[in-house]
Amino acid sequence: MQLVYYPDPVLQKRATAIEPGESGESGAARLAAAMLEVMVEARGIGLAAPQVGESVRLFIASESGAPEEAIVCINPRIEPFGPIVEFEEGCLSIPGIHAMVERPERVRISYTDLAGKRVEAEYGELMARIIQHECDHLDGVLFIERMSEAERLRIRADLKTLEEQYRGP
Ligand code: ZN
Repeated sequence: MQLVYYPDPVLQKRATAIEPGESGESGAARLAAAMLEVMVEARGIGLAAPQVGESVRLFIASESGAPEEAIVCINPRIEPFGPIVEFEEGCLSIPGIHAMVERPERVRISYTDLAGKRVEAEYGELMARIIQHECDHLDGVLFIERMSEAERLRIRADLKTLEEQYRGP
């Protein structure tokens, strides 16, 4: 399993829900385990399934980057809330680019875990940021689309380089 890089079309596609039940869950468990390896290898703190070429609604997030602290979220629904705050983001699928992005400070999330149980939780700070970034991936939205016009202009040349280096899916 390998990381998929911008501008691969899978990153700009809406991912499909994972069916509940035996096959959906064992498939999700295998996918999550493989994704954790990819995330650790790349020193990331979050990873969404489309970033490894699987267009399904699953992401992992670990504020410390430690795999044992990661949450695995299947078919998540989120409700961001609170004041809008600016924070620097990067993305494993868009290497070398970091930029300030505005998002609400907190998030309520409900998701199915690997045991098939629906979980409800609330997060702030870095976890709220990761969760919103990863949920965007499931809708085919990249953080470059969330940047201000000024930030987008600043990174334009780097983005162009990635487009030129891209060799297709
Ligand atoms: Zn990302």
